[in-house]
Amino acid sequence: MSETQQQPSPTMPDESGHFGTFGGRFVPETLVAALDELTAEYHSAKADPVFQAELDRLLREYVGRPTPLYFAERWTEKLGGARVYLKREDLLHTGAHKINNALGQIMVAQRLGKKRIIAETGAGQHGVATATVAARFGMECVVYMGAVDMERQHLNVVRMKLLGAEVRGVEAGQKTLKEAVNEALRDWVTNVETTHYILGSALGPHPYPMMVRDFHRVIGQEARRQILEQEERVPDLLVACVGGGSNSIGLFHPFLGDETVKMTGVEAGGHGIRHGEHAARFQGGKLGVLQGTKTWLLANDDGQIELTHSVSAGLDYAAVGPEHAYLQSEGRVDYTYATDDEALAAFRELCECEGIIPALESSHALAEVRKVAPTMGKDQIIVVNLSGRGDKDVEQAARYLLEGEKP
Ligand SMILES: *Cc1c(COP(=O)(O)O)cnc(C)c1O
Repeated sequence: MSETQQQPSPTMPDESGHFGTFGGRFVPETLVAALDELTAEYHSAKADPVFQAELDRLLREYVGRPTPLYFAERWTEKLGGARVYLKREDLLHTGAHKINNALGQIMVAQRLGKKRIIAETGAGQHGVATATVAARFGMECVVYMGAVDMERQHLNVVRMKLLGAEVRGVEAGQKTLKEAVNEALRDWVTNVETTHYILGSALGPHPYPMMVRDFHRVIGQEARRQILEQEERVPDLLVACVGGGSNSIGLFHPFLGDETVKMTGVEAGGHGIRHGEHAARFQGGKLGVLQGTKTWLLANDDGQIELTHSVSAGLDYAAVGPEHAYLQSEGRVDYTYATDDEALAAFRELCECEGIIPALESSHALAEVRKVAPTMGKDQIIVVNLSGRGDKDVEQAARYLLEGEKP
């Protein structure tokens, strides 16, 4: 097989959506039929050349694909080791990778004859991507968002409203992403006949982890083709940040069959690995069930979900996508973390070295590159996913980096 041919997918969940012992479907009875219908429609869309051609066209003409694979020459020189390439998902319409999935899902919703879209959002990026495609497809859109997040991410609230979406604030619990997901699930149970739930990461009950991954595989497919064109070989290392795990699985998946390619997922280390101070599920997490899926999560001994913290709202969630749990158990992907301070230092360095303002989420992946690139040879190659741009984060970053406030 030539290297440019697409690799077969080495991990497919089984019929019930398990990756090894992880994943599955832990939902109320009322959602089972809807999830079955969604699974069937997704498989039919995936096999339909007309659907794929329309998805490709919109990804190209509306979303802005392919994104460049950019050789970060000055940063590489500064780090003094491996050659670093950035996969520029930050250049996509709405500013992050999330729209790859939002677009794919709304096209499936349209095939299902749904008229109403709901979504959850944390930092607001998935809410904005969903409000965007809902406007484009002329569908009603309701986005659930924790009241605390609405305050922290006011700009994205305004964007969603301008795009015609209704933003419903959630006052329960920590008033952040987990509670927003609960409200979205509750809405879906009530309105499942008319409504599709566009879940925003590679999480939740089957078929979401598989479907969301598939809509983001385009990241890795392009990166693989581009690095073969530019360097005539596959990279030594892939690096991506892991919130729920969608941008990382999108980059990693098409390379899983390439045995020489190492992969590192970077979770949010927050203030350090102490209870309630981070969101690094593979550091001190437990196996459990949260919001429809079995995976690694942060919970206390009674099974209560713990508080999480990260400087970046997009990584601040107590559970990780089940396919990552599987890849970790198989030893295929390494998982590490970057603290708030390390992410901020990497954020600043990319701004100053390359003239690119990265999202704080992506800055966690950059922090790992800063650690490992200098230890690698100059003939080695790293591809890091720049999952989003930092426009949404500039006020926060300015407080920490210019005014000396602590994250
Ligand atoms: C939402 C978000 C993430 C985290 O989500 P994943 O599903 O893990 O990709 C990372 N980067 C950006 C820019 C985001 O908006």
